[in-house]
Amino acid sequence: MAHEHEHDEHDEHDEHDHDEHDHDEHDHELTDAEAREEAERLVRRDVALAQIRQYGDPALRMRAAEVETFDDELRRVSERMTSLMHDAEGVGLAATQVGILRRFFVCTLDGVDRVLVNPVVTPVSDDAEIDQEGCLSLGPIRLPVERALRVKVEARDETGEPVSLELEGVDARVVQHELDHLDGTLIVDRTDPDARREALRQLRPRLVLA
Ligand code: ZN
Repeated sequence: MAHEHEHDEHDEHDEHDHDEHDHDEHDHELTDAEAREEAERLVRRDVALAQIRQYGDPALRMRAAEVETFDDELRRVSERMTSLMHDAEGVGLAATQVGILRRFFVCTLDGVDRVLVNPVVTPVSDDAEIDQEGCLSLGPIRLPVERALRVKVEARDETGEPVSLELEGVDARVVQHELDHLDGTLIVDRTDPDARREALRQLRPRLVLA
């Protein structure tokens, strides 16, 4: 799952117009060191995104199989996926997004990186919320998606230890988004018809180029 970086396009500022934003970018020029750091960040992000399957790739539409062996390979791949997620500036990355058809994903929940294997996600109330979601496999597209506000997650970590989490808000949204990936479901399937039509229109030229 993608999230907005504070250095993203200026038109994002309306959505979260906090005071701290008023002081950056507009009234001071970047120093050479800052400009270099910014350029490096963008290169790192593009290199990471190039390693993540993009819309149109069949792996994104397949249902992943349970993980049966908690071995070094699983830990090595999860570590790699976690750094890829950070470089791509996302808060979640599912195995199917890197072409591995197994049921696990990495994510950052409340600032903590986690690997959730064979996850089962259950809403704990009827409360739901519609909010904008992005996806590392869908470029800059943001779509309104309804998600349960509070969920319980039962899973294993990368060593096979049981994990049980109660999540709400953004964290609950992240695990529901990533779980969808393990079933071949994307946010274009979860949004309203108008938003879907517009998103598919934007995604079509990418298919031609692929
Ligand atoms: Zn996604």
